[in-house]
Amino acid sequence: MTKKLRLHTRDIEQQLRLVGLRPTRQRMTLAKLLFDGVDKHVTAESLHAQTRGHKQSISLATVYNTLHQFTDAGLLRQVVVDVNGIYFDTNVTTHHHFYDTKRGHLTDIPVTAVKLQRLPPAPKGHEVERVDVIIRTK
Ligand SMILES: [Zn+2]
Repeated sequence: MTKKLRLHTRDIEQQLRLVGLRPTRQRMTLAKLLFDGVDKHVTAESLHAQTRGHKQSISLATVYNTLHQFTDAGLLRQVVVDVNGIYFDTNVTTHHHFYDTKRGHLTDIPVTAVKLQRLPPAPKGHEVERVDVIIRTK
């Protein structure tokens, strides 16, 4: 799946409708911050902090719910580093990550830069959905 979102307000509104989400003001505000043309990894907290300057305040719970709605709709990809590190990635193409454990920061690794030599077969009745490689750095 290759999907890049480099959208203007009108396009963001259309994109939200396309995936079945009503373009509410809160969703539009968050979508504009997320899909500004630069791929980014955000947490609910970091995105919430970015909304502070806006006229309309958005609760952390709403930011959290919206990030999950966008993820379910395929607009974002979730990267779970650990229980305290749940990131949302605007780059929804297949890729891997470096994780800076000191700064809590993710950097993309192109999928071609990682070579997986051998994987065990998936448990019976399951199939591999995807493989996420997170290389932790300090
Ligand atoms: Zn990424």
